[in-house]
Amino acid sequence: MKRDYYDVLGVRKDADAGEIKKAFRRLAREFHPDVNQEDPEAEVRFKEAAEAYEVLSDADSRAAYDHYGFEGLRGRQMTDFEHVGFGDLFNIFFGGGMFDSVLRDAGGMWGAAGGGPAPRGDDVEAGLELTLAEAVFGVTRDVEVTADAPCGTCGGSGARAGTGREQCPQCHGSGRMREVSSLGGFGQFIRTSTCNVCRGQGTIVKEPCETCLGTGRVRQTRSVPVEVPAGIADGQRLRLAGEGGAGAHGGRAGDLYVSIRVATHDEFVRDGDDLIYRLDVTMVEATLGTTHYVPALDGDIEVQLKPGTQPGEVKTFRSRGVPVLQGYGRGDLKVVVNVLVPRKLSDEQRELLEQFAELSGDHTYEADQSFLDKIRAAFRQ
Ligand SMILES: [Zn+2]
Ligand SMILES: [Zn+2]
Repeated sequence: MKRDYYDVLGVRKDADAGEIKKAFRRLAREFHPDVNQEDPEAEVRFKEAAEAYEVLSDADSRAAYDHYGFEGLRGRQMTDFEHVGFGDLFNIFFGGGMFDSVLRDAGGMWGAAGGGPAPRGDDVEAGLELTLAEAVFGVTRDVEVTADAPCGTCGGSGARAGTGREQCPQCHGSGRMREVSSLGGFGQFIRTSTCNVCRGQGTIVKEPCETCLGTGRVRQTRSVPVEVPAGIADGQRLRLAGEGGAGAHGGRAGDLYVSIRVATHDEFVRDGDDLIYRLDVTMVEATLGTTHYVPALDGDIEVQLKPGTQPGEVKTFRSRGVPVLQGYGRGDLKVVVNVLVPRKLSDEQRELLEQFAELSGDHTYEADQSFLDKIRAAFRQ
């Protein structure tokens, strides 16, 4: 059931234009969704009030409503207020002068009157190449960063020494611009946007600083120490908050993003948190058994191979791999045996091998049935 427009606004039937305007302004301030976000009914109440005001503030539609009720308004184009902001709304109904005072009444929801927030500085990208050992155990390295920094000459104000900033002539200090457009048959619609002269600051530099030409910032290359956590992998990115470019006029600094490259290692391959090492042994060593030392990243590891070690056998050394990034423990070091087969033989060596072959039978080369199973288990794939 639609409520009577006079009831909605809380005015008498013979209220004059001033009373109607005042009543609506009070309701809008109470119920506009931009202002009242606690009351779930606020939006409905606001729309109801806006519609009542739209009808009663126009002499013709008010007369039609007075005589015929809602019937008298049939076919009348109503304004869709749903997407009209609170500030714009007051411009529509009460003209520009009201705007700033309403902003202040609303308790600074739009930021300080006369200028928006200072713009944030740029984010900056940098690259850092690490050795595998550095990635595995973590390291602190300096990264050269070229970014905006506050100008030392003017202290970041952008103004020449002895001068200051002054009110922007374009927006008269509000930091905002008004754009007026027609709104159907319903007066004009005034939209506000950020001032393009002062970029919302509300002030401009009259005499720019010679060093920074008024921007308040200079490009500067500096060295930023980057703490790389143990266990970082190739392709990961570190974010250092506030280490990017300085913001203009006291705005927040941007962030520094450091992309990590890990150089390939001659002997180790990284597989997640595991390290894989290929141990080359000769055919004879594999056959007779041997002891080798693997130069692990944190000290040598003794690897004993029993007689009859097969190609592809894997020796796993628990917790000698890569520390888990931002976690606990370390991965494993897996030593994979690679058996070298002679490529060139002297006549004497060939003879000896032929003799060896004559002395060999099936029992000499007893197949290891679980060979593939072992590989699968070692790589969990
Ligand atoms: Zn300067
Ligand atoms: Zn301006």
